[in-house]
Amino acid sequence: MRVRVPPPAPLLFFRKVLREGKIDSYMIKGRWIGEATMKIIHTPREMQKTAQQIRREGKTISFVPTMGCLHEGHLSLIQIAHEKAAVVAASIFVNPAQFGPNEDLEGYPRDFEHDEQLCRETGVDLLFYPTPENMYLEEHSVWVNEESLSNVLCGTSRPGHFRGVCTVVAKLLNIVLPDFMVLGEKDAQQLRVLRRMVRDLNFPVAVVSGPTVREADGLAMSSRNKYLSPAERAEAVCLFRALETARELFSAGERSADRIRGAMRAVIEKTSGRVDYIELVDNETLEPVQIMRKPVLAALAVRFSGARLIDNIVLQ
Ligand code: AMP
Repeated sequence: MRVRVPPPAPLLFFRKVLREGKIDSYMIKGRWIGEATMKIIHTPREMQKTAQQIRREGKTISFVPTMGCLHEGHLSLIQIAHEKAAVVAASIFVNPAQFGPNEDLEGYPRDFEHDEQLCRETGVDLLFYPTPENMYLEEHSVWVNEESLSNVLCGTSRPGHFRGVCTVVAKLLNIVLPDFMVLGEKDAQQLRVLRRMVRDLNFPVAVVSGPTVREADGLAMSSRNKYLSPAERAEAVCLFRALETARELFSAGERSADRIRGAMRAVIEKTSGRVDYIELVDNETLEPVQIMRKPVLAALAVRFSGARLIDNIVLQ
C-alpha cells in the first residue's frame, strides 16, 4: 500500500508503520520514501561517477556526513537535506584519522543494518559506505589543517582531531560533489571549523546547519550515549542543566564569563562526571571572553567512565 502524506507529515508515525510492514512506502514532497530505491556505494570512484551523472542531469545534491549509529539527530539533518536538494546523499564512515591513539576508534558503536534501515525510511537516495582502506590509500600523505579555530575547546583535549575531520570532509566533498552539506550544531566547533575550511579552500558547497536534537530530559542525542551506564545516563543530563544555568544567569543580566563558568562547573561537580572543559568563547572567533557583550558560545565537555560528552548553546 502507498500512502500520500499531507504536510505537515507526522514522519515518526509513517516511519513506524513502514517498519511494521503496514505500508510499503509513503510520499512526501513528491517523492516516494521506503521503496527500494536507495543506492549503497562503497568506493570513492563509484560515488564520484554517480554524483557527476546526477549533476549532469541538472539535479542538486545535499549531503549529510556521519559516523553512523544513526539517531534522531542525524535524521533531522536528513530531513533538512530533503528540503534543500533533489537528491539526498549520506555517508557512514568512522574516520580513523580523527581519533587519537588512546581514543575509542575500536569501540565506536557501529550498526550498519540499523543505519541502512533508517536511511531507507527517511528517503536517502545515496548511501556512501566506504572502507578505511578505500578512503586512505597506503602512504596517504596529504592533510587539511585549519589553524585557528581548531586550537581551542576540543582541539586542546583531542590534538589532531580537527585535522582528521577537515581531511575526511574535504575528501568527502570531492567524492560526493554536493551543493549543500548539512551539519549539526551539536558539534559547534566542528561546524565553525568546516565552514572556515569551505570558505578558505573555496569548496563550491553551501554549509547548512541543524539544531541539536535532545532526549526528553534534555541530553543531546549522541552515538556515544550508548556507552553510558544507566547511572551515568541519568547523570549525563548535567551538561544540559549546566547550559540552562548559563542561559538563566545570562537572561537575568549576568555578563561575567567567570561567574557563569563557575555556576556551570558547580552543576557538573554534583555528578560523577569530570569536567574536560567549560568555556565561554566568542561565537565567531572562538576566543575566550571575559565580559559577554557579543554572542557567546557556551560549550563544555564532560568525561564519564563510559564516554566523553559535549554540548553547547549560543548566548545572545
Ligand atoms: P557524527 O555521526 O557524530 O559524526 O555526527 C554526524 C552529524 O550529525 C554531525 O554534523 C553532527 O553535528 C550531527 N549530530 C550529531 N548529534 C546530533 C544531535 N543530537 N542533533 C543534531 N545533529 C547532531
